[in-house]
Amino acid sequence: MRAILACALLAALLAPAAAAPPADGQTGAQAGDFAAFLAALRPEAEARGVGRGTFEAAFAGIRGPDPEILARTKRQGEFARPVWEYLVGAVSPGRIARGQARGRALAKTLDAIEARYGVPAPVLLAVWGVESDFGASAGSLPTVRALATLAQARFRGDLFREELLSALVILQRGDITPERMKGSWAGAMGQVQFLPSTFLKHAVDFDGDGHRDIWRSDADALASIAAYLKALGWDPGLSWGYAVVLPEGFDLTRYAGDLGDFARRGVRRLDGGALPPAGRASLFLPGGRGGPAFLITDNFEVIRGYNTSDSYALAIGHLADRLAGGPALSAPWPSAAERLDGPGLRALQEGLRAAGVYDGAVDGRAGPKLREAIRRYQIREGLPADGYASPTLLRRFGP
Ligand code: CA
Repeated sequence: MRAILACALLAALLAPAAAAPPADGQTGAQAGDFAAFLAALRPEAEARGVGRGTFEAAFAGIRGPDPEILARTKRQGEFARPVWEYLVGAVSPGRIARGQARGRALAKTLDAIEARYGVPAPVLLAVWGVESDFGASAGSLPTVRALATLAQARFRGDLFREELLSALVILQRGDITPERMKGSWAGAMGQVQFLPSTFLKHAVDFDGDGHRDIWRSDADALASIAAYLKALGWDPGLSWGYAVVLPEGFDLTRYAGDLGDFARRGVRRLDGGALPPAGRASLFLPGGRGGPAFLITDNFEVIRGYNTSDSYALAIGHLADRLAGGPALSAPWPSAAERLDGPGLRALQEGLRAAGVYDGAVDGRAGPKLREAIRRYQIREGLPADGYASPTLLRRFGP
């Protein structure tokens, strides 16, 4: 039954099904297609220095694409989950406790990594925690088969063919064996969830054993995160941002500026510490004026470079604060009735575009560009400029 189901899926994607599928779910025709795919790939790999032995070891035992992964490529579209739902999962009490314990156990290593790359230990632990629960769930799918599946199906064009070639180069260099090269269905590998091309540019052998091992070495994993954030432009003199409390009547139209100026205007840190006297920041109100407030710096954008999502970057920043002993957020998040889903966000993007304040994609995704457009519109219309995509705001563009 399972084989028949998998076959139906593959048939839709790849080739007409042959009569009698073998036990692993591949038809003869599909196995032939896969062999042809590998034959075309081989000279490309050789051009990058991948030897015959490496190539054959990489694909030993792989007879065709993974039907489960092909099914996953059809299930996109969960990106409209609100920030706070993401935060609840990513910054759970259990994860905070585990991260603090790992931080204590690895204090010396973390100090050495911070000294070399300038990224603070709590930020490194937070990325490690969100990517793989501190190495506990680094993904169990063989990376070569996952990437070969996506590449052969031409999911997102040639992106995964490139990543597959990069994976073969990693194997050629001997950082990892094909058996241990594992990760998620979309090819993100190990404890840091690097795609192979990111690994080639940024992975680090910090424990000095001669291998860049983001699968088993805590030191290599943490240093690789640090090296990548540094390459993305991490500024060691800046925090990622601050959870803050705004004073009554705060002028939301002046939402970007100097940290010292925000302090003079009555903005206070939630943890009671002092805001630094200088440094650029902007106000981020992911749940609108009544919800939690943050001042975010350029380092927030650096974290978005690791994974392009406001929810992700905020989860990293907030988890880092909590790992360092900071307080939980206390302001309430919006109720279900006070937020827009994907179609609502698309309608709002269309409305803002018609109003002449938005020139980004109509894709139902929140982000800095939409926030900026909402603020421009709110300021123009004399509304509180919180940048929040609310149903109330959408109704101004409704029929
Ligand atoms: Ca190593």
